[in-house]
Amino acid sequence: MNITIWNERSCQEQKGKQKKAYPDGMQNAIAEIFSEADFNVTVSSQNLEDDGLSEELLKKTDVLIYWAHTLHNKLSDETAERVFKFVSGGMGAVFLHSSHVSKPFKRIMGTSGSLKWREDGRHERIYTVSPYHPIANGVPESFLLKKEEMYCEYFDIPTPEEIIFLGWYPGGELFRSGFTYHCGEGRVFYFQPGHETFPIYYDENIKKILYNAVHWAGKQDSPVKESFVKESCPMAMPKDINISLPFKR
Ligand code: ZN
Repeated sequence: MNITIWNERSCQEQKGKQKKAYPDGMQNAIAEIFSEADFNVTVSSQNLEDDGLSEELLKKTDVLIYWAHTLHNKLSDETAERVFKFVSGGMGAVFLHSSHVSKPFKRIMGTSGSLKWREDGRHERIYTVSPYHPIANGVPESFLLKKEEMYCEYFDIPTPEEIIFLGWYPGGELFRSGFTYHCGEGRVFYFQPGHETFPIYYDENIKKILYNAVHWAGKQDSPVKESFVKESCPMAMPKDINISLPFKR
């Protein structure tokens, strides 16, 4: 499978706290998830010709992984339209974290992508709310990220086809953290974790999710790696709450 991992900044341009979190560059950390022989990974960035998303590159891309934060407006409208054209023609797309207001994401969603946020570096608990979706293969019922930026509803997106993950934060905030759409022939997954100053893409559960998401978006079965064994739920349900659960605890 041909994967293009695109970041607004090249690995060399990433400095300060981001460089500390990802010494070899964020896109290279993500590329490591796809180091097996059946993946052909290209790393690209906005400083290259055609914003690093040329017709030629997109033509040979099965799944595009897209991360952006501060340079959204510097991306040309033509590039956003080109990404939209390829996604609607069947290319898979995985939009990460602050790409929720990128031009290609907004073009695909048809909404503003706005949300509430707070960069406080406290923890986030991610809940798997569609455990039978291929993207949730091997992912626990919930897991903790020790430090993440808070994203909160309302998130201005169309009603997703499936919400797979929900995020909860210690301030009581909630967020639709992972969900899917179809755009024409293409499959689209948005995933919230991934603030650039925290080493989120080294987390084992995050790696599983991205691995699964690329298979799903690339219209391939999402195999469960042997090491991706389901873990039991770490939380206890209060005894006085009597609800039936859809799967065995
Ligand atoms: Zn962020």
